Amino acid sequence: MSRSILIAGFKHETNTFSAQPADLAAFRSRGLYHSGEVADVFRGTRIEIAGFMEACDRHGWTPVYGTVSEATPSGPVSREAFETIAGEIVAAAAAQPLDGVLLQLHGAMVAAHTDDGEGEMLARLRGVLGREIPIAVTLDLHANVTGAMADLADIMVSYRTYPHIDMFEAASEAADILARTLAGEVRPKVTVARGPMIDGVDHGRTTSPGPMLEVLESAARFEKEAGVLSITVNAGFPWADIEEAGPSVVVVGDGAQPRHGEIAKQLMAEIWESRHRHTVTCVNAAAAMESIRQAGPGAKPIVLADFADNPGGGGYGDATGLLGAMIAADVQDAAFATVFDKEAAGICHQAGEGAQVSLSLGGKTDPKFGAPLDVRGTVMRLTDGKFILDGPMAKGARIDMGPSAVLRVGGIDIVVAGGRFQAYDRQYFLHAGIDPAKKSVIAVKSAQHFRAAYGPIAREIIVVDSGGGLTSNDFTTLSYNKVRRPVYPLDMD
Ligand SMILES: [Zn+2]
Repeated sequence: MSRSILIAGFKHETNTFSAQPADLAAFRSRGLYHSGEVADVFRGTRIEIAGFMEACDRHGWTPVYGTVSEATPSGPVSREAFETIAGEIVAAAAAQPLDGVLLQLHGAMVAAHTDDGEGEMLARLRGVLGREIPIAVTLDLHANVTGAMADLADIMVSYRTYPHIDMFEAASEAADILARTLAGEVRPKVTVARGPMIDGVDHGRTTSPGPMLEVLESAARFEKEAGVLSITVNAGFPWADIEEAGPSVVVVGDGAQPRHGEIAKQLMAEIWESRHRHTVTCVNAAAAMESIRQAGPGAKPIVLADFADNPGGGGYGDATGLLGAMIAADVQDAAFATVFDKEAAGICHQAGEGAQVSLSLGGKTDPKFGAPLDVRGTVMRLTDGKFILDGPMAKGARIDMGPSAVLRVGGIDIVVAGGRFQAYDRQYFLHAGIDPAKKSVIAVKSAQHFRAAYGPIAREIIVVDSGGGLTSNDFTTLSYNKVRRPVYPLDMD
């Protein structure tokens, strides 16, 4: 008899310093798919859910679909959104007898009524499934893994790449351990170790030699030991003021053995030792403009990353520090994706393509991160903001930014977006008629993910921390109250 396996997903990376809640509208905007829609939406993509679906084919399981949803990183998940989505997943789990669960999580969710969104989600699933039905979860590499999560899941596998280009592979690995569990071959047990740190392993970057690749190499050696099923390393999400934030090592072992705890601790010690090493240095906007001036025009783009206002880490996506500097420097043959400003996009739609408009751009969520820019420009293109990602990361994901526009200010084509999205795929430009490969300078609101799609076309990459933004590296500007103390880098070094 075929086994019935629940497939569901609930992802959010919560920046607790953001005043922008993740409400139901935010989940709908990024993707809220009910059981009947899931297979169609994810089939053929490189997202975890597709990995789970393929595993069902491979192992002869019958998939039972629950809700799959995700919102762009932001402030805490609203009570209504959490209760609705978690409630739908629990209802799917309770609706029929199951043999196992494949659950796609991020691992850094904070909700209005709980600091441990994933721990709470798993506890509710256990409430209807009991302890015996195995639950396998996938996590983002930036997960904050709590003790409750480790206790309640049987199998836990995170991405091993940043940019995250192995979502599908992480899902396959988790599902294959579930298959061995159902066959009675192994009894998986999750062990987690953390250190006194909220920031480490170079944020998890795997694009150049450095701390993350080194610790992953050590982890791969330990994975060869008998009884070790999987080891993954989480860089953690430091912009979360919760007790258990920070880097962690997760060992999935066959049975509970002290050795697994020793391995996790040993790898955490490596992470502690490497805490001061970073593979990327941020420059301020003035220095970036000077580099562009010196480099001059080119056939391939210089890529500027707006590190401090990365919507992929909870940034508001409308901070104006970098864009303002580019306009002031009169950068030519350039493009910028994206500035979140629904109102400005609406003005462009009213004016129509080809129209000249004067408007106030960006800086509306919190002017502390750069005041709105008064600009005059030409509406080059209007779009519905809908497209499908086709780069190495989350290939196949459907994006709906809402009505959006391209506004040309001086020599810069600015993609003014109706929603908050991290522009890590070239489609953020291409869907709006801009070929980023043909520009001399492009700027994206992204910290690291952009490297997967833009690295191959870049003349040079410059990471800019213009100081204003919710994902700045300067943690001393944020007030932490709940995180365990003392902790690096708030209290040490
Ligand atoms: Zn991540």
